Amino acid sequence: MSAHYVGRFAPSPTGPLHAGSLVAALASWLDARAHGGRWLVRIEDVDTPRCVPGADRFILEQLARCGLMPDAPPVWQSQRGALYEHALDRLKAAGWAYPCGCSRKDIELALAAQGVAHQRHGERVYPGTCRKGLSGKPARAWRLRTVHADGLAVVIDWTDRRLGPQRQDLSAAVGDFVLKRADGLWAYQLAVVVDDGAQGITHIVRGEDLADNTARQIHLQCLLGLPTPRYLHTPLVLDAQGEKLSKQTGAQALDTRDPLTAVRAAASVLGLEAQGVDLGSLLAALVAAWRARWL
Ligand code: GLU
Repeated sequence: MSAHYVGRFAPSPTGPLHAGSLVAALASWLDARAHGGRWLVRIEDVDTPRCVPGADRFILEQLARCGLMPDAPPVWQSQRGALYEHALDRLKAAGWAYPCGCSRKDIELALAAQGVAHQRHGERVYPGTCRKGLSGKPARAWRLRTVHADGLAVVIDWTDRRLGPQRQDLSAAVGDFVLKRADGLWAYQLAVVVDDGAQGITHIVRGEDLADNTARQIHLQCLLGLPTPRYLHTPLVLDAQGEKLSKQTGAQALDTRDPLTAVRAAASVLGLEAQGVDLGSLLAALVAAWRARWL
């Protein structure tokens, strides 16, 4: 086993795995096995209103049926709030995190006043209103600066093993983003970075729909003194309309009654062909195919 490789699959328990989530799970498992490393599973249940009771156990069962067994007991983000609080405290102390008193409406109005119509995935780029202070408003959320103290934008360059070189100007593309929400819940960006750091994750393999979050996460890693893992974002499974499969668009739960077929279908999305008379031999052949392609 390589002491230097730790990978993970980090599902949100908002429903069962579907064909698309198995692709990410399988790819992260294959990469860990091909490197002789460890593979962990982390249940990302911080967004409690979106979590479905029992989905966590169901996902772990679906993974097990497909032969994807973690090398350590899974962890649940809902039990790790103290770690996130500590990280937020550090970011506050360093002057990078600040309280924000803006409602959605305030943000709309501030953007309209600037003549900005820019919209991104339905999310507005935060105009930075509270960066210089709350102006008497009560604090609602905590945000992270995407500009340096001298006013220069934070620009992140990174390289994806599959997609190649990437660059994002965080201040223009996303704006100061939320670390702790107005409803008191931890934001995905903070929780994922703190946990990847705490669990010593060296390689992140996940769906391409998450690639756009990577620059924000690298910014946080740098501020928290955490190493940046290597990234590989896998192809998405599209439905008949060309939309990414997702629970929101009603993707079918993955059928694991025939795990060989499910694993073969996920492997073919990754461009891997392999034969196997049973799950064990199929997975072993896929590890070899993955190694030949990505290592
Ligand atoms: N929990 C996230 C999701 O299910 C994935 C997080 C990650 O892999 O970084 O979409």
